[in-house]
Amino acid sequence: MKVRNVIVLGATGSVGTQALEVIAANPARFAVTGIGAGSNIDAAVDQAIRTGARALAIATPPAGGEAQVRRLLEARAEQLGAQVAVETIFTGPEASARLAAEPADVVLNAVTGAAGLTSTLAALESGTDVALANKESLIIGGELVLRTAEENAAQLIPVDSEHSAIAQALRAGRREEVSRLIITASGGPFRGMSADELAAVTPEQALAHPTWNMGTVITTNSATLVNKGLEVIEAHLLFGIDYDRITAVVHPQSRIHSMVEFVDGSTIAQVSPPDMKLPIAYALGTDRDGTTTRIAGATAPEPFDAASSWTFEPVDDANFPALGLAIRAGRAGGTAPAVYNAANEELVDAFHAGSITFPQISEGIAAALDQHLGNGGEATELTLETVLAADRSAREFIAGWLEPAAAEGARA
Ligand code: NDP
Ligand code: MG
Repeated sequence: MKVRNVIVLGATGSVGTQALEVIAANPARFAVTGIGAGSNIDAAVDQAIRTGARALAIATPPAGGEAQVRRLLEARAEQLGAQVAVETIFTGPEASARLAAEPADVVLNAVTGAAGLTSTLAALESGTDVALANKESLIIGGELVLRTAEENAAQLIPVDSEHSAIAQALRAGRREEVSRLIITASGGPFRGMSADELAAVTPEQALAHPTWNMGTVITTNSATLVNKGLEVIEAHLLFGIDYDRITAVVHPQSRIHSMVEFVDGSTIAQVSPPDMKLPIAYALGTDRDGTTTRIAGATAPEPFDAASSWTFEPVDDANFPALGLAIRAGRAGGTAPAVYNAANEELVDAFHAGSITFPQISEGIAAALDQHLGNGGEATELTLETVLAADRSAREFIAGWLEPAAAEGARA
C-alpha cells in the first residue's frame, strides 16, 4: 500500500495533535508533508521537526517573520538531534490556504472557525481531497464548497464523528433506501438545566464537557447546541438529505455517534468510545476512489462485556434554541448559515470575556438572523466575496448588539 502524504492544518489544536498521533503510529500508511498552525509557533516548529514535514505555515508569525521561524526550526532540530526538512515557510493570514494548495494526497483541515474556509477551497481547487474537521468552512461556504469539490473531482471526507458515523452507516444500503439521518448529541454539560440555571452558568462550567475533550469554541458550541445545529447543516450538505429527514437526539453517553434509518425500518448505528482518533483514521484511510481501509487499533472497541446502559431523549428546544435557529438558517440557505456561524463566534468570545450570559449567545444569534433575513439575505448567491461580506456584517451587527446586551447581562 502506497504511503499517503498528508498536510495537517490546525496541527497544534485538539484534532490536529490527535491526527499527528494517528499518523505517527502508522508510518507505513501515512507521512506528514505539511504542518499548518495559527499562533502557537513553538508547538508547530516542534511538530515540523518531529514529522519531517517539508512545508510549514504560521498564520500569526513572530515579530522576526520567516527568518525567525527558520532560526527556531534550526534550534529545535539541534535540540532533538534531527534535521530540518522544511523547505517552504508560509506566514500570514493566508498561510494555511497556501499550504493547502501544495501537492498532497489529503489535506486534513482542523483549523477552528470561519478562518478555515479559504484552506478548504484552496485544497479542493488543487484537486486534493479534504478530510474535513473544520465544519465551519462547509457550513458557511455551502454550495460554493460543494461545487468546488465537484468541479475539481475532489472529495470532502468527514472527520466530525457524527458524519463519519453516517458515512460508515450509509455503506449498509443504497442512497434511495435512506429514510432518515439521526444525529446524536451528548447534550453538553448543561443538559436538563432550567432557564434560570442556564442564566447563571460560567465559562469554566461550559468548558467542562462530560464526554469529549476538545478546543474552546467547539466545547462551548456543544454546551449551547450550536455545534449540533452546525452538524445538521453539515449533514444536509454532505449527504444531500433535506432538513425534514434529519433528526437530532440526545444520547448523553456518546457511544452511538449517529445512525442511518433505512426504508425497511432498519437503523444502522456506528458505535465506539468517544475518541476522535477513530473518525480521523477513517478519513485519512479513505482513498481517492472513495474506498476506505480501516486503521487497525485506531481506538479501543466498545467494551460490551461490562454492564452499561445507553439512554436517549429529545432535544430541549425551549432552553437550547440554537439547534432550531441553525435549521432556520440552513433552510434559508445562501449566506444565512455564514451569518449564524459568524454571530456565534463573536458571541462565544463575548461569553468567555465575561460580557454576556450563556443564554445571550442564542439570543444574539437569533437577532443576527432576524436582521439578515429581514434584509432579504437568503437570496444571496454564494461566492467567496458574498460569504466573507456576510461574515463581516454579522460580526459588525453583533458588535453593536453586544453593547446593550452586555449592560443587561451585567444587571442580571
Ligand atoms: P482547537 O482550538 O483545539 O485548534 C484549532 C487549531 O486551529 C489550532 O491549531 C490553531 O492554531 C489553528 N488556528 C486557529 N486560527 C487559525 C487561523 N486563522 N489560521 C490557521 N490556523 C488557525 O480546535 P479543535 O481541534 O477542537 O477543532 C478544530 C476544528 O475541528 C473545528 O472546526 C471543530 O469544530 C472541529 N471538530 C473538533 C472536534 C474535537 O474533538 N476537537 C470534533 C469534531 C470537529 P494555534 O493553536 O497555533 O493558534
Ligand atoms: Mg461532532
